[in-house]
Amino acid sequence: MAFQYKKRDAGAWEKRASQQGGDYQGFIVDEAKVYTPKKGDNFVRILPPTFENADHYGIDVWVHYGIGPDRASAICLQKMKNMPCPLCEARARAERGGDEDLAGELKPSRRVMVYMLDRKDEAAGPQVWSMPWTLDREVCKISRDKRTGQVYAIDDPNEGYDLSFEREGEGMMVKYAGIQLSRRPSSVDEETLEYISTLPLPMVLRWREYQELHELFAGSGMEQTAAVNKPVAPVSLARRPIAAARPATPPLAAEEPPPPEPPEDEPPFDPVPARDPPPRPIAPAAAAAAVPSGEVTGKSRAALLREKLAAR
Ligand SMILES: [Zn+2]
Repeated sequence: MAFQYKKRDAGAWEKRASQQGGDYQGFIVDEAKVYTPKKGDNFVRILPPTFENADHYGIDVWVHYGIGPDRASAICLQKMKNMPCPLCEARARAERGGDEDLAGELKPSRRVMVYMLDRKDEAAGPQVWSMPWTLDREVCKISRDKRTGQVYAIDDPNEGYDLSFEREGEGMMVKYAGIQLSRRPSSVDEETLEYISTLPLPMVLRWREYQELHELFAGSGMEQTAAVNKPVAPVSLARRPIAAARPATPPLAAEEPPPPEPPEDEPPFDPVPARDPPPRPIAPAAAAAAVPSGEVTGKSRAALLREKLAAR
């Protein structure tokens, strides 16, 4: 019998086209594009909050990184909702059992999630950046004139200020330095604001229930392997080649010693990098294609996003 080709619907193609790559399981919904600071100079504009009762441009998020063989990341239910969190429970068990490495690895990390524009790639549109909270603190510091007390509302869409900073190093050695505000105010276009109003930051979070988190973690056998035989997976080694040289970093790989301090004391500009932006085998150009530009389709990004959300 002759082979019969079955046509698949557009949704199936779209799903494949917008996937984040590999088996990566992140804590940000697929509709949002994730920003990763580039090595060298970065020029970004932090966008204003578009959610109710905002007292900051970003939202605080607690994230467990490096969960299971997929190195998934997930929002901590304990810290965010005061609900039971299987990863925090596993951490408590590890502490009781004296496994400090595993306990450190399971510690949630605090990030500040913002919407921003990459001024070097504005065509990419608004992106979500989960920055280390220490970097956010530094941004707030330089947004205020120490002598006069004047505050520069950097996220003001009409007369805000771009930020520049340098990302140095790779993997766990990443540092952010030379953070500066642009000396001149600038604006952000309407379409950008419309887009982030359609998908406010709280909607960007991908919540997982207890059971799903438990499966991500326990299904991996991580608890045993990590305790007995580290380094665990070649994947984690490949991504963090120099981890062993850095005893004081916050984080999560099994081969690392736990940080000596509580999370609030983590050094400035010393984030848990490499994880937060998921590894994305998908090329930037292809990723951009997932949200076609207005010129091509005649529809604004925000309109496309609304359709996508409605179909969800
Ligand atoms: Zn947790």
